[in-house]
Amino acid sequence: MPHRTLIGLGSNLGDSRRQLADALDRLDALDQIEVLNASNLVDSRPIGGPADQPPFANGAALLATELSAAELLAKLQIVESALGRVREIEWGPRTLDLDLLLYGQEIMNLPGLVVPHPRLAVRSFVLEPATEIAGDWVHPWINTPLGELWKTWRMGVDAVGLIGDATTRDSLRQLLTQLFPKLSSAEVLDSKVGNRELAMVAIGDAKNDAKSEAKNEQQVPRIAFCTCPDAAIPGIPTLCVDFFDDQVARRDVAAAIIDAWPSLGLSSTGA
Ligand code: ATP
Ligand code: CA
Ligand code: CA
Ligand code: CA
Repeated sequence: MPHRTLIGLGSNLGDSRRQLADALDRLDALDQIEVLNASNLVDSRPIGGPADQPPFANGAALLATELSAAELLAKLQIVESALGRVREIEWGPRTLDLDLLLYGQEIMNLPGLVVPHPRLAVRSFVLEPATEIAGDWVHPWINTPLGELWKTWRMGVDAVGLIGDATTRDSLRQLLTQLFPKLSSAEVLDSKVGNRELAMVAIGDAKNDAKSEAKNEQQVPRIAFCTCPDAAIPGIPTLCVDFFDDQVARRDVAAAIIDAWPSLGLSSTGA
């Protein structure tokens, strides 16, 4: 039985749209890979990396493959190289980026291969095209269809959810307010989704949202941060923050916030 996998495609150097189409042709041409469906491409502004890089074209594709996840990633990397990818600057400009987003319902954490892709659920440029072709696919860690995550991203209240015990929530809040000093005065509301508690840091009118819809107990933050892989709350686009590497933690939190609230990025001193 072939495995169903979802990949993300991105490019912001050269003839991006052509290169993305070319990449899919090259993958489909391989014996062990069949391209089942490809999304439309979205234009997206760069999040993180060098400040002055060109906008991206992003898409997603559904594949059926006989390959293991590691073998598939190796093939993706060969196609990247064939289309001129060089890795010089982290999150820098590239002719082609192919990410392995999902591989069946598998959860893997190997050196050089993490599945689901760790930042998949907090990137609008991934969720939007992925929803178009795989909206029903349940994210195996957040236990929520991608389409639901995208919906929450767009419709959730203007707040960041912090998931974990009091110490964890405190560390997450500290990181957030270091990166975005504006948020140090933000309202923090204790909230519940289902029977799980979380702290909500208001970005905009979250408090008013919460008050005016007091009847509605399912006030869901647009995104959430947690520290351990098993702590996600279903329904909420969540980033697992890696406190073992402070640089990565700051980079990933900043990127998620700037993607969700572009105007906050302008006042950021972090990233
Ligand atoms: P991001 O991963 O945040 O989208 P990027 O795509 O720019 O950033 P790359 O330079 O393309 O990052 O890849 C860095 C490393 O990520 C690769 O060497 C690869 O081994 C590793 N990696 C781990 N998990 C995955 C995955 N699911 N898909 C693609 N690469 C992965
Ligand atoms: Ca084929
Ligand atoms: Ca990527
Ligand atoms: Ca990549």
